Amino acid sequence: MRQDVDGERLWRRLMAMAEVGATAEGGSCRQSLSDADEAGRALFLAWCEARGYEIRKDRIGNLFIRRPGRNRDASPVLIGSHLDTQPTGGRFDGVLGVLAGLEVLETLDDAAVETARPIDLCVWTNEEGCRFQPAMMGSGVACGVLDLEKALSARDGAGTTLADELVRLGYDREAPPRLPDSDCYIELHIEQGPILEAEEKTVGVVTGGQGIRWYEISVHGEETHAGPVPMALRKDPVPVLMHVIELVQAIGRTDEDARCTIGRIDLSPGAINVVPGRADMTVDLRHPNEAALDRMHRQLMDGLEALRQNHKETDIDGHLTWHSPVVTFDGVLIEAVRASARARQLMHRDIVSGAGHDAFNVARRVPTTMIFVPCREGVSHNPREYASPFDVTAGANVLLDVTLARSSASTSLPLPELAPCSRRLAADG
Ligand SMILES: [Zn+2]
Repeated sequence: MRQDVDGERLWRRLMAMAEVGATAEGGSCRQSLSDADEAGRALFLAWCEARGYEIRKDRIGNLFIRRPGRNRDASPVLIGSHLDTQPTGGRFDGVLGVLAGLEVLETLDDAAVETARPIDLCVWTNEEGCRFQPAMMGSGVACGVLDLEKALSARDGAGTTLADELVRLGYDREAPPRLPDSDCYIELHIEQGPILEAEEKTVGVVTGGQGIRWYEISVHGEETHAGPVPMALRKDPVPVLMHVIELVQAIGRTDEDARCTIGRIDLSPGAINVVPGRADMTVDLRHPNEAALDRMHRQLMDGLEALRQNHKETDIDGHLTWHSPVVTFDGVLIEAVRASARARQLMHRDIVSGAGHDAFNVARRVPTTMIFVPCREGVSHNPREYASPFDVTAGANVLLDVTLARSSASTSLPLPELAPCSRRLAADG
């Protein structure tokens, strides 16, 4: 018999959680490991305790809530997301995945459904990365992508370290972070983009995440007075910068999945009557296909080389500063999401995540997928963030179906195909 979540109970909980750290603008502010974040966790844990679930915490503050299965030794199905928010956060980003996860556990309890595998609901610490960097920290450490000591030494703007906050809140007494040896991981999240709403779809079948590459580009010229030096005799980085901007925009137009963003441009010294001596800019390239991303990288590097040849009056320096590989989710799980949406007659489409999620870290270790639901006008990280009760309930029902399918499955999914760097991490344990 098909189970359905209690959409009203889920909505009430979402609204109750939004009151913790509520802002005047109608959003929530629960920055990671702040008093408000801890109060949100306490409210969540009280709901879990009322059901008698086993609760485990770790050294970085990740929470794992277990609903046991018939087979205690079977690897659990992992579901979850995060409860922390941006300083001007909304009511759904992260919170939806956690509270829909709790709703799944309670729905199974209410219907007295016994699953073969246990189900672990997790709350990852510091997904947002606004107070402590990097983002997706709790999942990163648990999955061996990020070093625990490095995470503990992260400092917020006031100079407080993550380690200080973990001591203050008592997490320092907990066991080292470790990803449970899981069958799979499924995360429900709002889309944070405009595609599902624009196409009137309820469910986004997330096939993976874009790869990201960051660059810093500098053009060095010579600072001179804006009056006495004729144009032809200047070593002005600005005309070259203009070509770099054109180059990056052209790369962004090569195909419809490409994304190129120039997020910062600085001219130095930045005075109205001085020809700048230097121009600095950042470039963010994204694409869901690693080979396409390689091609974009080559286009950028070749383009800069051509500019170097044509503008010998300046020096152009451009290099990669950070990258995150393309994430591909598990085919069996993706199909399970699609099958659930189809069975429930929910309009759906495949989609690639443009934003980063804890699921990207977990996907390196266990078969993973995500489910998206639309958010109004694609707005998130904003108090106006909104997902409708219908979409929230639909997303939770799909999460329930896939969780139920996997927690009843006797054979395990194959481990993810790992990128070389992830394979090394896995080998390290
Ligand atoms: Zn999120």
